[in-house]
Amino acid sequence: MSLGPRHSVRGSRATIVGAARSGMAAARLLNAYGSRVFVTESGRMSAEDENELRDLGVAYEFGGHTSTGLDADFLVTSPGVPPGASLLVQARENETPVYSEIEVASWFCTAPVIGITGSNGKTTTTSLTGHVLSQSGRKTWVAGNIGLPFAAIVDRVSAEDVVVLEVSSFQLEHTATFRPRISILLNITPDHLDRYGGSMSRYAAAKYRLCAYQGQGDTLIYNLDDPLLEDLAYRTPELDRLGISLEKTTAAGYVRDDTIHLCLDGKDEPLMETEQLALRGKHNLYNSLAAAVAARVMEVRSDVVRESLATFEGVPHRLEPVREVQGVRYINDSKATNVNAVWYALESMRDPVILLAGGRDKGNDYGPLRPLVSQKVKSLVCFGEAAGVIAEAVGDAAGRSLRARDLEEALELASAEAQSGDVVLLSPACASFDQFDNYEQRGNAFKRLVNNL
Ligand code: ADP
Repeated sequence: MSLGPRHSVRGSRATIVGAARSGMAAARLLNAYGSRVFVTESGRMSAEDENELRDLGVAYEFGGHTSTGLDADFLVTSPGVPPGASLLVQARENETPVYSEIEVASWFCTAPVIGITGSNGKTTTTSLTGHVLSQSGRKTWVAGNIGLPFAAIVDRVSAEDVVVLEVSSFQLEHTATFRPRISILLNITPDHLDRYGGSMSRYAAAKYRLCAYQGQGDTLIYNLDDPLLEDLAYRTPELDRLGISLEKTTAAGYVRDDTIHLCLDGKDEPLMETEQLALRGKHNLYNSLAAAVAARVMEVRSDVVRESLATFEGVPHRLEPVREVQGVRYINDSKATNVNAVWYALESMRDPVILLAGGRDKGNDYGPLRPLVSQKVKSLVCFGEAAGVIAEAVGDAAGRSLRARDLEEALELASAEAQSGDVVLLSPACASFDQFDNYEQRGNAFKRLVNNL
C-alpha cells in the first residue's frame, strides 16, 4: 500500500448518500482514513451491509433520508441517486460540497489514471486499454462503472501501477479535483437525456468535466469526428490534445488505406492493418485507436500494442457471437440500449440481418436507423413495450416487420425467418427493464434461448 490522500480526511464528517456498491466502497474507504461516516439509503439495505457498517462503527439509516445527513463536511452521492433528491438539494443550498465516489477515491490515488467516458464504447475501450497496458507488464487496475468501484481498489494501488477507469457522466457531475493523467472522450450522442432535462448541451457539459481539472503534463484523447467534441480543443489550451479520427489523417491516431497509423511527437508510424484487429466494426476502430494512443502515451511499446489489439477477446453483450445454427449466426448485442449503438452494430454487419429490437423505450428517435435498416435488415422483429413505437418508426424500412410479445417469442419468429447465411442480431435500442433487471440478464436470456434452439 502506497498511500497518502491528497488532502487528509481525518476527523472530517462525511455523509454517503446511497448504499449501493460504490457508496459502500466510499464508506469503507473514508472510514479507514479516519473520517466520521454516516450512510443514508432511501431504499432497503441488506443484512450483510448493515452488519458490516455496525462492525465498522459507521452510523446509518435506511428507508429514507432524514436531515441527519446534512450535518456533514461533505456528501458523497452514488450514480443511482437522482440529482433532485431533497438531501442533495438541501446540501447545495447549505453550500455543503457534494462529491461522487470517483472524486473521493481519487484523493487517495497515487497512480496515474486513464479515465474513459463517452455515450458508447466506454466499457469496451476501458477493457481494451486495460488489456493493452497489462500486456505491457505494468500492474493495471480496471475499475469504475465497468465493475469494481474505484473506491474499492484505490488503497491497494501503488504509484507504479496504472488505473484504467470507466467513468459515467453521472459520476462526473460531482467532481472537484478529479484529474486523470489521460482522459479519453469517445463520443457524445443522445442518451440519458431524461436526466438532463432533454438538454444535449447539459449532457455534453457533464462529459467535458472529465478533463476539467487536467493540467500541464496531462493528455486529452478525443474523437475528432464527433462535432460535439471538436470545440473541446478551444476549451483546453493547456492540455496535450491528441485526436483520433477515421476521416482526418492529421489526427494522432488515424486510418489510411486500411492501416492504423499513430502520429505522436511528430513521428508517423503505421501500427497495424485494421483487418488484424480483434474487434470488428467501425465503432471498434475508434475504440482501438483510443486504446492504442493512450497506451503509446503511457510508453507501451508498439509491438505490445499491436499484439494486444489483435488478441483481445471482447466484452460480453457487445456484438458477442453466441452460436451458429444451420448456417445462421446469432449475435448478442444486448448492451446496445440506444440508437447510436444499434447504428454501429448494423453498420458492421456484412450479411443479411434479422434484427431483434425492443424493450423499454427511453424516448429515443429511431429515425436515424432507417437508411441502415433498409440496406441491411431483411426482417425486423420488434418486441416488448417499445414494439409499437419502433415498428412505426422504422418497420416499413425493413424487408419485413414482425411483432412479438417478448424476447422469447421474438427469437422464435427470428429463427423461423432466418436462412443460412443470415445473422440474427439482438441489438435492442432500448432499456431492458420491461422484462429484465438489466441488459446482462437480457443478454444471458438470449444466449440461453439460442443455445436451446
Ligand atoms: P458503454 O460502456 O459506453 O455503454 P459499451 O462498450 O458497453 O459502451 O458498448 C455499448 C454498445 O455500444 C454496444 O452495443 C457496442 O457494440 C456499441 N459501441 C461500442 N463502442 C462504440 C462506439 N465507439 N460508438 C458507438 N457505439 C459503440
